[in-house]
Amino acid sequence: MSELARLDRILAAGDLPAAEDALSLADIADVESLMRRAACLRDEGHRDRVSYSRKVFIPLTQLCRDTCHYCTFAKAPRRIDAPYLLPEAVLAIARAGARAGCHEALFTLGDKPELRYRVAREALNALGHETTLSYLAEMARLVAKETGLLPHLNPGVLSPAEIASLRKVSVSQGIMLETSAQRLSERGGPHFGSPDKHPAIRLATIEAAGKAQVPFTSGILIGIGETRRERIEALLALRELHERYGHLQEIIIQNFRAKPGTRMAAAPEPSFADHLWTIAVARILFGPAMNIQAPPNLSAGALEQQIAAGINDWGGVSPVTPDHVNPEAPWPEITRLGEATAAAGKVLTERLAIYPDYVRNATRWLDPVMATPTLRQADAEGFARDCAWTPGTPVEMRHHTPSINIRLTTSSRNALSDILAKASAGQDLTEAEVVALFATRGADAEQVYVAADDLRRSQAGDTVRYVVNRNINYTNVCYYRCQFCAFSKGKLSENLRGRPYDLDHAEICRRSREAWDRGATEVCLQGGIHPDYTGATYLGIVHALKAATPDIHIHAFSPLEIWQGAATLGISVRDFLSELKAAGLGTLPGTAAEILDDEVRRIICPDKLTTDQWLEVVETAHAVGLSTTATIMFGHVDEPRHWARHLIRIRNLQKRTGGFTEFVPLPFVPMETPIYLKGLARSGPTLREALLMHAVARLALHPHVENIQTSWVKMGEEGAKLCLQAGANDLGGTLMNETISKAAGAAHGQEMAPDRMERLITSLGRIPLQRSTLYGPVSSERRDASFAAAPLTEAIAIPAARKFHRERGTASSVPATSTVSD
Ligand code: SF4
Repeated sequence: MSELARLDRILAAGDLPAAEDALSLADIADVESLMRRAACLRDEGHRDRVSYSRKVFIPLTQLCRDTCHYCTFAKAPRRIDAPYLLPEAVLAIARAGARAGCHEALFTLGDKPELRYRVAREALNALGHETTLSYLAEMARLVAKETGLLPHLNPGVLSPAEIASLRKVSVSQGIMLETSAQRLSERGGPHFGSPDKHPAIRLATIEAAGKAQVPFTSGILIGIGETRRERIEALLALRELHERYGHLQEIIIQNFRAKPGTRMAAAPEPSFADHLWTIAVARILFGPAMNIQAPPNLSAGALEQQIAAGINDWGGVSPVTPDHVNPEAPWPEITRLGEATAAAGKVLTERLAIYPDYVRNATRWLDPVMATPTLRQADAEGFARDCAWTPGTPVEMRHHTPSINIRLTTSSRNALSDILAKASAGQDLTEAEVVALFATRGADAEQVYVAADDLRRSQAGDTVRYVVNRNINYTNVCYYRCQFCAFSKGKLSENLRGRPYDLDHAEICRRSREAWDRGATEVCLQGGIHPDYTGATYLGIVHALKAATPDIHIHAFSPLEIWQGAATLGISVRDFLSELKAAGLGTLPGTAAEILDDEVRRIICPDKLTTDQWLEVVETAHAVGLSTTATIMFGHVDEPRHWARHLIRIRNLQKRTGGFTEFVPLPFVPMETPIYLKGLARSGPTLREALLMHAVARLALHPHVENIQTSWVKMGEEGAKLCLQAGANDLGGTLMNETISKAAGAAHGQEMAPDRMERLITSLGRIPLQRSTLYGPVSSERRDASFAAAPLTEAIAIPAARKFHRERGTASSVPATSTVSD
C-alpha cells in the first residue's frame, strides 16, 4: 500500500498517524496531495476561520546568553542603547498598542542575559531586580494593569517555579522547540554555543508549562540544517507533550530566513514548497483541532497557499511595532491580511493571545487575576470582542462596522444559504445549524440579518407594535443569590445597591392607578423572592390590583414565582395557576428562563428552577389558558450551543402549546452584577451577538413564534433600531419604572414614552401601533390618554422591607424561585 493510501485509511478512521506512520510521511514528496488532506482537516476543526492576534511587540531586552547563528534579535551590549527597556518605554509601546485596538502585549526577549553580561546584571540591579524574569513579571503586570493588554511571554527556557510565577502575570507563554535534533547543537551546527537550545532542555520547559496548566505556544524552525524526518520527530515530541497535558494552543511552522550579518547569512533558505510541505504535515500530525500557524510576514505574497496547506492562524500581527525578530520582513497591514484571507475563502477573525478553547475554560487555564480581564475581552466563542459596546450603554454607529473578514468559500456560502432557506421554509433547524448561524461574522452575519428581516416582513409585516405598561417590582428582597442579578438586595448588598424595600398593597395599587391614568393597558409585576412571601401573597396582589384597576391587564409572576407560590401553599402548579387566573391574572412573563440549559444554570443560578421545571410551569400555564412570553438572558458564561438548545426548547414547547406571545432576547447587562464584579463573566454579548440573537430567533422559531421583541432598555434606541432591522418586530413596553436593568448598570432611563417609541419606529419607515399584552388593538381612549400623560410622579415613597421572618434555611425546602433581573 502506498504511503498516501495508508494515510488516507488512518484519516478516514478519524485517527492521527502513530509515530511510525508519521515518520513515513517524510517520504511523501507530493506536496499538493498532503496539502489537500491537511486543508480538509483544518476545515473540519476551524471551518472558515483564520485567526490572528492584534498585538504590540515589546522587546524587553535584546541581550541574550545564547549565540544562535541565524539570529539578529540578540545584540552585543555595545550595539544597543540600553540593556533593558525602562518601564516608561514599555508603557509607551503598550499604550500605543491599546490606542490602536490591540489586545496582546507580546514580550519577546533574550534568554537570561544576566548570566552572560555584567552590564545586564548592573542594569537589573538599578531596576531593583536580580533576574530578567523578575523584571519581566513586573513589566507584564504593569502593562496589564495600565493598558488592559493581555501579556504573552516568550522569555526562553524556564524552570517550573519561573513558569508558575509568570503564570500570574500572563495569559500564555511560549518557546519554540525549533528542532529536536541534538546534532544541531554540536560544533558546526546553528545552535552550537547556545545552551538554551538543547532540545531536551526546551522540551523540559514545555513539559513544565503543561504541568502548570499554562496555555503554551511552540513550534519548529525549518531550514536550519534539519532533515524532514527530524522535523517530524520534533512535531511528534510536541504532540506527545500535548497529548499528556493539553496545553499546546498553537504549533508554529516558521521558515528560516537568512539575515545579513549573521553566521548563516549565506545559508540557503528552505523553499516555499518545503514550507508548505511542513505545514501540511504538521496539520496531519496534530489533527483538526490544533491551531497551526505560519507567520504571514515571512512568506509575503504567498498567503493563500499557506491557507491551502492547512494553517488556521497568522499569529500576532502588529499595527504599531515591527517584528523585532525579523525586522527585514514587515507585517502586512491587517486590512490586507483580511483581504488575502478572504481571497482564500476564509474569514479573518481576531483572537486574544490565549486561544478560544482555553478562554472558554479560563478557570482551569488562567490564574484568577488574569482570567477576569481575559473574559471581559472575549466574545461567546472565546475570540476577541469585535466592538466596544456593552449592553445597557448607547450603541454608536462605529460599533456597527462590518469586520474585515468578508468572503465565504462557495461550499460554506451554500451551507449558510441552505440553512437560511430551510428556516425560511419553516423547517426545524438542528442544534448544529442554529450554532452555525450564531457563528457567522462579517458579510455572512449580514446575510443572516437580511434573511431574518425578509422573514419578519413576510411573517409580521411592517408594523412595529409596543405596549403602554408599567413595571412594578414590588420587592427587591430575595433569598436567592443568582450570580447575574444586581436587583435583589440581601443584607450584604445594602451598601452597594441601596436599602431593601417591600411595597405594600396601597403603593402597588397607587402605581397601577397612576399607570391607568397615564394610558397604560398593562402592569407587569415581578419581584425578588422575599422569604415571607407565599402563594397567598401573589394571590393577594392580584386581588388588590383587580379591585383598584379592574380593566388593566395583569402580566405577572415568572415561572419561578409560580413554582414557589404553589409549593408554599402545598398545591400543584396547575391549581395555583388556575387560582391566579380566576383572581384576574392575565398572562405570565417568561422570565427566569435565563439560559434553558442546566450546564449554564448550574453556574449562574444553581439553586433556581431547572430547565425542565421552567418548561413544566410554562407548559402548565399554557394548558390552563395563560399565555406567556419567552426570554433568553445571554452573554455571561454561555456559549452559542446553549443558545441553540434554548431556542430549540422554546420552539418545541411552542409547537405543543402555541402559548408564547413573543420571544424577547435580553442581553446580559454586566456592570453591577455579582458574577461580573467577581470577574467570572464576560461583558455581555457583543453587538454582533445581540443582533444575531434577534435574527436567529426569527429564523429558528419560524413559523411558530410570530413576534420577536427587542428590549430598548438593554439595547438602547440605536441598538433597538438595528434589532428591528434584523428580525425583530416589536418594541416591548414603555415600562414607566424600569429598575432591573438600571440596577445592573444600564443607562437607558426608566421610561420610553409613546411619542418617543413612535418616533423611533417611523424613523425606520415602519408603522407604529399600540397593542394590548396579547397583541390585540387598544382603544383610542387608551392611546389618547397615553399621549396626554402627565409626567410620572417622582420620589415614590418606598417602604423599607419588613423584618424577615423566615430564614433561608427554612425556605430552602421551597423549590427555587423567581427572577426579575431579566
Ligand atoms: Fe432573586 Fe430573581 Fe435576582 Fe435570582 S434573579 S436573585 S431569584 S431576584
